[in-house]
Amino acid sequence: MRYKSCYWIESGINFDIDAYKVCCLYSAKGGGNTIIEDNYKGKPINWEKVFEFKKNIKDIFKSGKIYPKCEGCIFLEEKDWDDDHTKISMINLDYWTKCNSRCTYCHTMADKKRYNSFKNYNFLPILKDMIKRDILRPNGHVSFGGGEVTLLKEFEKLLNIFIDFGFPLIRIHSSCIIYSKAIEKGLKEGCVDLIVSVDSGTKEMHRKIKGVDSYDKVWKNLKNYASKQKNKYAVKTKYIVIPGENDIKEEIDAWLIKSKENGINFVLHEIESKWFYARRENVPDEIFEIFNYAKNKAEQLGLKYELYERAEHMMKFHKEKETQ
Ligand code: SF4
Ligand code: SF4
Repeated sequence: MRYKSCYWIESGINFDIDAYKVCCLYSAKGGGNTIIEDNYKGKPINWEKVFEFKKNIKDIFKSGKIYPKCEGCIFLEEKDWDDDHTKISMINLDYWTKCNSRCTYCHTMADKKRYNSFKNYNFLPILKDMIKRDILRPNGHVSFGGGEVTLLKEFEKLLNIFIDFGFPLIRIHSSCIIYSKAIEKGLKEGCVDLIVSVDSGTKEMHRKIKGVDSYDKVWKNLKNYASKQKNKYAVKTKYIVIPGENDIKEEIDAWLIKSKENGINFVLHEIESKWFYARRENVPDEIFEIFNYAKNKAEQLGLKYELYERAEHMMKFHKEKETQ
């Protein structure tokens, strides 16, 4: 049947610190963040209930209405969707908070000690249960976010299962301070996509934004990963623009040049969340200028450039406003 929906509604799930949700997104106008079960601590999942919950959202879309939390989302698409309600092919994992960086913009900075000692539930038993019940389909993607992925105890095991299960795209967000053999394996096989948010080009800015002295280690590991990638666009550096801190052309130049020098062919540009959510309808022109500057510069250097999720929403609102 033809209707508006997205892959997360159809077949996705997000495992967060204390809840599981339809997706992990907050930047749609409607706010996203549709929780399926709150106060979740890792107990076995009643999948029939999950699929019933998702079916109810689909029925709203099938009736021609928009589920309010999804309003304005860039991932909504009108097409013929497969009518199977009982499979999961998109998984986002961000159920841990331990991290070896101290990014100025991170919500964990409010109480780093607590977030670094927070005991997460294990996802491995849930994954094994999904495989046993035959509800997992390797035709979508898996994404690891959370704190720092290489500090998650079950990470290497999970990644190896996803690789062996045949997921064609496993997206990993890492600070790149620690080198992972499982990530290297996935890059060699061409199924891992690695995103490293450097948010700077120079050592000084890196220390200022990331809160740790990890610049040399990060770029050394990035170079090593990039030299192993089967897909030349698999290893990506990301630059989160924090207005008033790193929205500086010289930093952007240094980021792009450093990426190029270290064998990275794909760069991502994002806007800082707190700043964006407070001004999403009122973004000043200088911010669009810095994004346009980076895009042109990246293209001059032969780098593939893309906006990341919030920045894409920001540009979408901007274009809509301009055409009104
Ligand atoms: S907020 Fe967007 S990605 Fe999330 S379920 Fe709604 S439409 Fe899908
Ligand atoms: S790397 Fe991620 S989790 Fe760690 S401090 Fe930075 S934003 Fe927070």
